[in-house]
Amino acid sequence: MFEQNAILAHIRRWVEIESPTERPDQVNRLVDMVMSDHTGLPVTLERVPGTDGCGDHLIVRSNWGQDKPGILVLSHLDTVHPMGFLAGRLPWREEGPIAFGPGIYDMKSGACIAHHALRAAAAAGGGPLGVTHLYVSDEEIGSPTSRSLIEALGRQAKYVLVTEPARDGGKIVTARKGVGRFDVHIRGLASHAGAKPHEGRSAIRELGHVILALEGLCDEARGVTVTVGVVQGGTKANVIPEEAVAAVDLRVPTAELAEELCGKILGLKPKTEGVTITVTGGMNRPPFEQTPAAKALFEHAAQQAAEIGFELIGIHTGGGSDGNFTAPMAATLDGLGVDGKGAHTDYEQIDCRTIVPRAELLRRLMMTLA
Ligand SMILES: [Zn+2]
Repeated sequence: MFEQNAILAHIRRWVEIESPTERPDQVNRLVDMVMSDHTGLPVTLERVPGTDGCGDHLIVRSNWGQDKPGILVLSHLDTVHPMGFLAGRLPWREEGPIAFGPGIYDMKSGACIAHHALRAAAAAGGGPLGVTHLYVSDEEIGSPTSRSLIEALGRQAKYVLVTEPARDGGKIVTARKGVGRFDVHIRGLASHAGAKPHEGRSAIRELGHVILALEGLCDEARGVTVTVGVVQGGTKANVIPEEAVAAVDLRVPTAELAEELCGKILGLKPKTEGVTITVTGGMNRPPFEQTPAAKALFEHAAQQAAEIGFELIGIHTGGGSDGNFTAPMAATLDGLGVDGKGAHTDYEQIDCRTIVPRAELLRRLMMTLA
């Protein structure tokens, strides 16, 4: 049914149009190609114009089964790799069963096998449920311009299949932590470090307290991590620093913990008199917790995988995806893409031997979910 080399050649065409999120012109060239790849299929295409400097989104709807809640397939066409990566640090190359290229693993191969699964489902006249395949342009920056579209389509879906990469030797993702982002802005009082140090209030000194307070919120037993990833402050070595800022990343496995930790971070108080702390931000992606319906979906997929000849293992991960947005609305299964490694690096790669079994799993889900 599926031919590894034919699909790999197709993945290569998608990879060779570089599509960094911040280059909407390039993302749109890829959208053009994906649209033309649907020529002759029993689907309707809806291209949603990009906003805020992002590329267009594409909605592909099967002509069958659109009268009731169906299957939403979620993919993204953007990558983190800057333009020129393909000609420089990460050219297309194949070494035995391994293929390399920018965005090949995260997630052009996953998007492409879902497209082939849809083709195969269409050739068989379609399954019990309609399939809607959404390709977004901005996942790598947190999906600011596609979130409302993902949520609207997620509300209409019974099942959501996310084609993010498979993990750690083919595992798929049944739960993801929620992701919060915060900016901490500290304002002290500048003064001469030699002549009048006592008149100053050091924002950097306060930042030291803030970093320890924030990272002190980490709780391994409850799966909470808080990372101060960027700090900045001060002007000169001989000036008591007036300002300091920190960018903070929060990961939490449940909605309750999201609320608790957001409250603590937004409520940070200064330890030094005369210094103010302003915290902005909040949850960017809610936690993706496994519901009973998602568990049943996973078990069905595991059964199908066993018939194909591989074991499907579900894992929890700290990384967020667009699946976080749909998990509260519809049974969501993530990590259905091709196996490989090196997402976001200069050795990003897929194991081509997993192309066909993974495409077959997606086809079976499209043909059997009811
Ligand atoms: Zn991705």
